Amino acid sequence: MKRYRADLHIHSCLSPCASLDMSPKAIVERSVERGIDLIALCDHNSAENAGAVMRAGEKLGLRVLPGLEINSEEEVHTLAIFDTEEQALAMQEILYAGLEGSNRPDVFGDQVVANEFDEVEGFNDRMLIGAVRMGLHEVVREIRRLGGLSVASHVDRPSYSVLGQLGFIPEDLELDAVEVSSRGSVESVRRALPGSRGRAIGVVTSSDAHELDDIGSATTWFLVQTPEVVELGLAFRGDRGRRVEIPPRTG
Ligand SMILES: [Zn+2]
Ligand SMILES: [Zn+2]
Repeated sequence: MKRYRADLHIHSCLSPCASLDMSPKAIVERSVERGIDLIALCDHNSAENAGAVMRAGEKLGLRVLPGLEINSEEEVHTLAIFDTEEQALAMQEILYAGLEGSNRPDVFGDQVVANEFDEVEGFNDRMLIGAVRMGLHEVVREIRRLGGLSVASHVDRPSYSVLGQLGFIPEDLELDAVEVSSRGSVESVRRALPGSRGRAIGVVTSSDAHELDDIGSATTWFLVQTPEVVELGLAFRGDRGRRVEIPPRTG
């Protein structure tokens, strides 16, 4: 078993609310500087920069999982984390079919598509910050069907979280894990997890970085054989010797 320090929730310059400094190379360099072994790139409703960050990561020995942060019609954010760019782009295609409106860069910010050399390839003009035409249960089902992990985003925060929007975590929602943000309480989140179900739900802490300085502000250790989705899933369930360790919170 190996230990991987992971930050599984990082935005790039494609997210309108993220800093333009969040370019593929800069994200990878800062992650390596911070001693992180594994990241997931999760832009709002899009995976258009995931491949570039994966390729930038390969050059510096950082494993990058392609992901998306999906905004369901209940305005609940869920991370979808995959192994391959193809899976992430398949998820994106489903989301784009139900994503209306155009971005207003003056209001929401620019949505920059970049390559692994940090060159601008273009601007995405969809309203990526919007909600897709899919309910939360359907979002989680689609992630699972495509072979990904679903992680309820920042459940300790009041806005855009399953606890904030619904007030509880539905028993029949097949989440792999819930995420606690950098300042949230892991213990109070554990108490909010549905108890009477067969499948265990994991807990993970990640940074939800929108700026370079945020990267690694919350991380989680994974004890797994390989940094792949199937292994992370086992770790979330505490299965076959795989496990998750959340470092003590500071502040
Ligand atoms: Zn979010
Ligand atoms: Zn986010």
